[in-house]
Amino acid sequence: MYGMKWNRKWKWSRLAAALGLLAGGFTVHSVIPALYHKHRNPEVLRRTGVPGTVMLTFDDGPDPDYTGRLLDLLKKEEVKAAFFVVTREAVKEEVLIDRMLSEGHVVGFHSMDHQNAMVRGYLHTRKDFRTGSEFMKRKGISDIWYRPPWGLTNLFSWHFVRKYGMRMVLWDVMAEDWEKGATAGSIRKKCLSRVKDGSILCLHDGGRRTGGAPGAPEKTLEALTYVIPALKEAGYRFILPSEAVFR
Ligand SMILES: [Zn+2]
Repeated sequence: MYGMKWNRKWKWSRLAAALGLLAGGFTVHSVIPALYHKHRNPEVLRRTGVPGTVMLTFDDGPDPDYTGRLLDLLKKEEVKAAFFVVTREAVKEEVLIDRMLSEGHVVGFHSMDHQNAMVRGYLHTRKDFRTGSEFMKRKGISDIWYRPPWGLTNLFSWHFVRKYGMRMVLWDVMAEDWEKGATAGSIRKKCLSRVKDGSILCLHDGGRRTGGAPGAPEKTLEALTYVIPALKEAGYRFILPSEAVFR
């Protein structure tokens, strides 16, 4: 009787130790790096650092239905933006990538296949960055701006950011434009009420394979027809990452 009890106790303590190790490992591999780069790392861009400016950035594209129309709008408004593309999609839509580049926009890297780095290990991270760097090189892009999906990183991400000479760009304004319940009105309101001097807006021109609601970029596009003129009216100038100042 006593032996059985002891045995059970022993099993539980081993389980607790294993869980503790797992939690500790996850903290070191995922939680600490993700929090550090998101909030503290001075080499990560989160605001433009230039008074009187804002930056428009678009993630999760390119998308055959929306990205071209967004480029039309940006052209009409004479505004340049940064597109953080998923290379799995970008290789299928290279005409759009070429158009972004020829029209003066920035094409940045938003991962190979939009996985959550916190639950991915060294091998995937290495392949992810290698694929991104090869794509950028093929497109003649030497200044590589990188935005991790959801802004999340792991213990190895920064090593590869440095290795491939990339610079990380996050954001300070989101408008939840990928959500099912988002409307052009809700996106417009969130953008305009959240933007501050030097804000970097993170919006989405794609998302059908990355968790966005079907048709979501349609609303983003509609919202932007109001947001861009309103930001101009407020006196903001739109800049690109190369003009930003790390602070
Ligand atoms: Zn994304």
